Amino acid sequence: KPLILLENLNKIYQTGEERIFALNGLNLSIEEGEFVAIMGPSGSGKSTMMNVIGCLDQPTEGHYYLNNQPIAKASDDELAAIRNKKIGFVFQSFNLLPKLSALENVELPMLYSGLSRQERREKAAEALEKVGLAHRMQNRPTELSGGQQQRVSIARALVNDPLLLLADEPTGALDSRTTVEIMEIFQSLHEQGKTILVVTHEAEIAEYAQRLILFRDGEIVEDKR
Ligand code: ADP
Ligand code: ADP
Repeated sequence: KPLILLENLNKIYQTGEERIFALNGLNLSIEEGEFVAIMGPSGSGKSTMMNVIGCLDQPTEGHYYLNNQPIAKASDDELAAIRNKKIGFVFQSFNLLPKLSALENVELPMLYSGLSRQERREKAAEALEKVGLAHRMQNRPTELSGGQQQRVSIARALVNDPLLLLADEPTGALDSRTTVEIMEIFQSLHEQGKTILVVTHEAEIAEYAQRLILFRDGEIVEDKR
């Protein structure tokens, strides 16, 4: 059974008289442990699909099953809970809270986990060690390089041990050397069995993945392994 199953998925935006099919009859199946790159021109539907898969947004029509659980009928509260427990997000802009230390940023997804403060600290520290940032735990984001900030956000994405890691242009704000360092982290996560989806404009990034999905006009026009 696939980890992600999309069936006849439509996402329609109505602007005045015009109906835009941001996703147009999408069918897609992704197995646990796959590392998938998603490419395509601007406006082709990549972010819309990531938002649906990430339970940030609901499709207009069709079905979405995450780990066999039907998502399209879930309430907003259920979606928020699924997002928090099962999905890790990494964004181009890091999205760290500037007033919090690296450690406190990584603790955030565990706030409602029922873990004690001490347990949250320990798990966050462990996650930061895994991305090579043990020595920067007490620093705020502004005291860290872009690559270090992205490591913090990867640690935050992984701290609840999600089913799925979603990354939207994760290296878009980084230089080429740092990009390689970050992609090597993704590669190592893939080797440990994580399921990873990465949206990218760069072919060199896509090469780290084992599968490439190409979007155009809300449809998948190519899917190759
Ligand atoms: P990509 O991520 O590939 O750049 P998007 O998923 O952001 O593409 O957009 C797909 C299509 O949906 C585009 O035509 C875009 O203009 C449209 N779209 C996205 N979000 C909205 C919105 N909130 N309202 C209206 N149209 C939208
Ligand atoms: P874009 O790809 O258009 O630059 P982002 O990658 O920053 O946008 O964000 C993609 C979507 O995820 C947006 O709809 C945004 O509201 C949402 N989002 C951004 N940050 C978070 C977050 N930390 N947790 C949950 N959702 C987020």
